[in-house]
Amino acid sequence: MSFNVEEIRAQFPALKQEVNGRPLVYLDSAATTQKPQAVIDAIVHYYQHDNANVHRAAHALSGRATSAFEDSRRVTAEFLGCANPAQIIWVRGVTEAINLVAASWGRSNLAAGDKVLVSAMEHHSDIVPWQLICAERGAEVIPVPVTDDGEIDLQALEALLDEHVKMVAVNHVSNALGTINPVQEIAAKAHAVGALCMVDGAQAIAHWPLDVQQLGCDFYAFSGHKLFGPTGIGVLWGREALLEAMPPFLGGGEMIDRVSFDGTTFNRLPFKFEAGTPNIAGVIGLGAAVRWVQGLDRGSAEEHEQLLLRRCDELAESVRGLRRLGPERNRVGVFSFLLEGTHPEDLGTLLDQQGIAIRTGHHCAQPLMSRFEVPGTARASFSLYNTMDDVEALFAGLAKIQEFFA
Ligand code: PLP
Repeated sequence: MSFNVEEIRAQFPALKQEVNGRPLVYLDSAATTQKPQAVIDAIVHYYQHDNANVHRAAHALSGRATSAFEDSRRVTAEFLGCANPAQIIWVRGVTEAINLVAASWGRSNLAAGDKVLVSAMEHHSDIVPWQLICAERGAEVIPVPVTDDGEIDLQALEALLDEHVKMVAVNHVSNALGTINPVQEIAAKAHAVGALCMVDGAQAIAHWPLDVQQLGCDFYAFSGHKLFGPTGIGVLWGREALLEAMPPFLGGGEMIDRVSFDGTTFNRLPFKFEAGTPNIAGVIGLGAAVRWVQGLDRGSAEEHEQLLLRRCDELAESVRGLRRLGPERNRVGVFSFLLEGTHPEDLGTLLDQQGIAIRTGHHCAQPLMSRFEVPGTARASFSLYNTMDDVEALFAGLAKIQEFFA
């Protein structure tokens, strides 16, 4: 199977539009990916034909909705290399997944004097939930330094690890730099001192196939909307024994076994963590996204994305005053930069006028911005539907802006 980017693009209706009179160049997939027709169709089909609540009624529509809902769980488990679909917990996204683990696992496992290590390149979603639970439990959140190249400083991590560390939380790929972190090695280091390792997979999930067993982490989370699926739905995967031992996160319907004023008992996994009516259309849409991705030649897609980044790096060399952040290699999806004499916000606006969508600002990674002593960056982010023409358009756009300011 060879990778045909035009065939892929043709499946994304939102990419076929003009913005400000120019063909859209969408370079903001790290914020959210566009959706293929297959995902849009699955959501429309559910609402047009099967709309009903899941797990509760004896009627046909509920049966169909439940079977599509649970089928999504099954394909998602398979997608992550997990044999047991009960370890796939539906959440709103990575943010909720980390809050769930911090609140549920953290409240019953963290005590005064304990430490949670998070890298200094984490998204706020992988910092603040740990700060909240650590403040409650008298534990401490310790940042793991980032090198000048934009990688987690593994020697510093080693030096910080001791028996007081109970959790090491890192992202698989940095949303602000694109750095691919060695999570397998980090999980092994965490385990060597008896700590757990939670991986935020938000920026990794769309770029290559992964296997949670192989990674060796204890929790892995991703958001559907970064994998060509809908917003408001995501996945928490956890080791079964850990999930079994953890108390519920939210209380309500679905997560109970029996409720009485003498004491309530809780449902089995995964329902123990899924209180209330779930995002049924979101789950079905995510299942369609997973199937769509499974139908791709992922090796070729990955190669294609790497070629786009390499071309960015080449073109960047001849742009006066361009400073790129993040490692040379070991990077995926993200080209994060500053342009001398231009504020990133202005860059974003001026590129948008040319139909080019990028993101600017701190990318919800303020500690990382402080580390590099920058207020923010301009970030072009790539997905498998981007073309070399998109890269050329970005650099032509930057050249125009430089001319304008010259
Ligand atoms: N972690 C990383 C690395 C991200 O890039 C993002 C979103 O940009 C998140 C966490 C939060 O994801 P969500 O807003 O889907 O919960």
